[in-house]
Amino acid sequence: MAAARPQPGDPLDQDAAISVRGLVKRYGDFTAVDGLDLDIRRGEIFALLGPNGAGKTTTVEICEGYRRRDAGEVRVLGEDPAEGDRRWKSRLGIVLQSGGGDSQLTVRELLRAQASYYPEPRDADEVLGLVGLTEKAGVRARALSGGQRRRLDVALGIVGRPELLFLDEPTTGFDPEARRQFWALIRSLRDLGTTMLLTTHYLDEAEALADRAGVIARGRLVEVAVPSALGGRGTAPALVSWTEQGARRTEATATPTAFVRELATRFQGEIPDLAVARPTLEDVYLQMIGEAGR
Ligand code: ATP
Repeated sequence: MAAARPQPGDPLDQDAAISVRGLVKRYGDFTAVDGLDLDIRRGEIFALLGPNGAGKTTTVEICEGYRRRDAGEVRVLGEDPAEGDRRWKSRLGIVLQSGGGDSQLTVRELLRAQASYYPEPRDADEVLGLVGLTEKAGVRARALSGGQRRRLDVALGIVGRPELLFLDEPTTGFDPEARRQFWALIRSLRDLGTTMLLTTHYLDEAEALADRAGVIARGRLVEVAVPSALGGRGTAPALVSWTEQGARRTEATATPTAFVRELATRFQGEIPDLAVARPTLEDVYLQMIGEAGR
């Protein structure tokens, strides 16, 4: 199946942007990542979901080469991150959970400085346009608002023209309009061929952006699927609700269209307060992490 996750013991996927098998990370006696298997295909946006402390950042930082693993195999753009050299690192873009941005330099100066580390950087002004910071180019980074700093973090992450971009909770602190603009930016980066690994606590963000989503709970990957099918959402019964004789009625059905047609016949027209709902991503997510915790 297209969305299936790798099984323990499967070989590494050499064509994948990221391939992880049996990953284990311990902090003292505590096992933060507990035998994780994951493949991220080239060109896709993959959202990693999971509650606080589930092991997302640990996994991502091992893939970035920032943390050492205790066991398992990892390949990122064909190389082991524990041995990745400067050339390999220049193919990655990283937007950390808490960015910097406290610099005395202006936004444009910071971007140009960052660009100088890469062999084929994007033009700094082009990147400022992409993230909507053109008007702030001459402003010192420390004078930016919280949401603007986050955009600067994204700009710094993409100025090196990365093949693979890591985005750790990128839109925390964004206002709703800035989030929509950011989503458009992410989609345009995908159109340019950038693979992205996104961690987020915003399920609507995962649904809007991700080609596939994976749920981590207690250091293990619980499921991988397209967001619309996660947790059996695609085939879950629909809940049809209406008001009848002053009372709210709800029926779970696999054939909501036929059921509504029957109701319409019974009411001979409009069905009072009709609503048809399927489980939201949040519904199935909360159920999945609840089950994983038991
Ligand atoms: P969040 O959604 O809160 O960012 P996360 O899924 O990214 O959470 P991690 O940061 O990977 O979670 O942490 C996983 C677990 O490992 C947590 O229980 C955390 O306390 C622990 N942990 C992470 N880093 C360290 C460290 N350097 N030393 C000790 N324990 C750590």
